Amino acid sequence: MLLKLTILPGDGIGPEVTEQAVLVLQAVAEAFGHHLELEQKTIGGAALAASNDPLPADTIKACLTSSAVLLGAVGSPAFDHYPNHLRPEAGLLRLRRELGAYANLRPAICFPALEDCSPLRADLVRGTDIMIVRELLGGLYFGEPRSITGDPGSRIAINTMTYGEPAIERIARVAFDLAMKRGKKVLSVDKANVLECSRLWREVVTRCAKDYPGVQLSHMYVDSAAMSLVQRPKDFDVILTENMFGDILSDQAGGVVGSLGLLASASIGGPVGVYEPVHGSAPDIAGKGIANPLGAILSVALMLRHSFELEREASCIENAVSAVLNEGSRTADLIRVGETPKSTSAMGSQVVGAVKELAAAKRRSA
Ligand code: NAD
Repeated sequence: MLLKLTILPGDGIGPEVTEQAVLVLQAVAEAFGHHLELEQKTIGGAALAASNDPLPADTIKACLTSSAVLLGAVGSPAFDHYPNHLRPEAGLLRLRRELGAYANLRPAICFPALEDCSPLRADLVRGTDIMIVRELLGGLYFGEPRSITGDPGSRIAINTMTYGEPAIERIARVAFDLAMKRGKKVLSVDKANVLECSRLWREVVTRCAKDYPGVQLSHMYVDSAAMSLVQRPKDFDVILTENMFGDILSDQAGGVVGSLGLLASASIGGPVGVYEPVHGSAPDIAGKGIANPLGAILSVALMLRHSFELEREASCIENAVSAVLNEGSRTADLIRVGETPKSTSAMGSQVVGAVKELAAAKRRSA
């Protein structure tokens, strides 16, 4: 199969982890006989520095003519004082909107080898396997009006949360469809005791559930869900929620399973999917070669599964990551006292090696 991709390394640790993800992708493509066509473009701070636009026209054109996009991360303190439309994050939001990527899937899985890396007790986190389905094109991040107006000392800031029934219904259906293939449970997270958006959300989700009699639907307020996520993470199956709540809860889920650096994501629903680790550009560790590349590498697995329906290849990457972790390899975010961390590139190389071994073993047994 021809895999035509746009690679957007972005800022901070984005290029470091994306480099390893591409090496893993190349190993899988070679092992399974796929042809890769990769084009690299800029986004975020890197694009702002080069062209004063966080999402240049040639980047969006390349993405729209690809089969999928692999992204690192955007964001840099150097741009924190820029106006909103000229911030790196504005490039990412525009990319998601231009590509119609309304469904953000964020799996949070506790790898057995990493039970001791969670700040929670191993018996609490063992078996955690959550799929967070986050609405990605609505809510506070996109709502208008938005502004800061007035004179210093008496300024007023406005953001707007809006949700329409069609936007709620289409993301709810993604969650129910996924639940049908998993544990058949959807927890819809909202703040219906306070917000009109959440009341409409709850009503529409409840209506959709009637088409999925095999799926058990429950509702929870976001504050209560945040607490339950650390008290009993393994009780969750699919979490369905709006844009900002999903952003926050998925980082929390990253902490629960050991590190944010492990979490991958798929942003789908439009013509071209975007695949990126959940973490940001991590300026505090950028350039040190210590970032965990596994979130980016596992995002390649999600890309092969969701954009190309290459389940064998996706599983090969996931099994390779498990094998490397079972061998005891850890980046700095996962080590315990006395352990020696692997660098970003050493971790990536080990996954490449494991992919090659697993693919060779599969060929021998075929
Ligand atoms: P962050 O996710 O970049 O970092 C949070 C913490 O997790 C930091 O301590 C960081 O060192 C650590 N961390 C993150 N990824 C890691 C990895 N792969 N390996 C090891 N440790 C890792 O969030 P932040 O610090 O709040 O934001 C930094 C910048 O990233 C900001 O400009 C923000 O806007 C941006 N951001 C971008 C995205 C994205 O591109 N999708 C997402 C979140 C934040």
